[in-house]
Amino acid sequence: MKALYFDDKLAVREVPTPRPAPGEALIKVLFAGICGTDREILKGYSGFHGIPGHEFVGRVVECGHSEWVGRRVVGEINLACGKCSWCAKGLGRHCPQRTVLGIVNRPGVFAEYVTLPVANLHKVPDEISDQAATFTEPVAAACEILEQMTLPAGTPVAIVGDGRLGLLVAQVLKHAGAQVTLIGRHGWKLDLARSWGVRVLSESDRELAPGSFPVTVDATGSARGLSAALRLVEPRGTLVMKSTFHGAAHFDATKLVVDEVTLLGSRCGVFAPALDLLQRQHVTVHHLITRIFPLDQGPEAFEYLDQTSALKVLLEMDEGK
Ligand SMILES: [Zn+2]
Ligand SMILES: [Zn+2]
Repeated sequence: MKALYFDDKLAVREVPTPRPAPGEALIKVLFAGICGTDREILKGYSGFHGIPGHEFVGRVVECGHSEWVGRRVVGEINLACGKCSWCAKGLGRHCPQRTVLGIVNRPGVFAEYVTLPVANLHKVPDEISDQAATFTEPVAAACEILEQMTLPAGTPVAIVGDGRLGLLVAQVLKHAGAQVTLIGRHGWKLDLARSWGVRVLSESDRELAPGSFPVTVDATGSARGLSAALRLVEPRGTLVMKSTFHGAAHFDATKLVVDEVTLLGSRCGVFAPALDLLQRQHVTVHHLITRIFPLDQGPEAFEYLDQTSALKVLLEMDEGK
């Protein structure tokens, strides 16, 4: 099969088609999304070599459990050991032995085929298009905030960062009843959020008084975004670190302690609530797709992302067949 392979450099390669182990399904990938984590992997983050990619929709073509064959599916990305004490507590996403699709010791989805345990799969409801289903994983990551904290209706929340993740978090928290303000630096991305009824402000806006939000979210994964979120959170408030932060963060620890701010790290989430939001169209994702490249042009898709402020770039596997 054809795949994008990263081995210090990203290239299209012919590789053996994977074989499903017992309890696994062989999935034909239809679309895959490129996310910030994939771009970090190409910079050497996590030392991953192999086929990257973890956001996808596909169709099961082979499986020992025949009810899955032919089904359109998305897949949770953490593969837990099922035996350790974390797994026993239902925290498989924190299992120390876990592998992670396209990120840690497990070939990913920038390929024609991928295998995953049936336990990781979710059937995609007919109302969700292939392209929209590709967003299940990032929407689940946005929903994770609601699993971690209670957000009473009407709570003012400031989200720093108007990238794809910030735009998804804004929609998810708004739907949950929060009073969302999205703070960014790209006019067209802020316009998109405004069209969904989200209050938007530019980073330099004077309305942004320090300590004016009980909850702030950093969706930039940058030191700058984190400091902005810390500046905006009120005493006894909560700062959610939603983007994967790489390396050491420098921030005002005095403010954190003196204002008794709760710092909440937040990573990936479970798929069921995300599929529900997508099915009911409470979250719209089509406007977030900037461009679709065929798998053959995967390296060009990454270059395109480096050169533009594109939101989401998808890879289409079926192209030319
Ligand atoms: Zn991702
Ligand atoms: Zn485990």
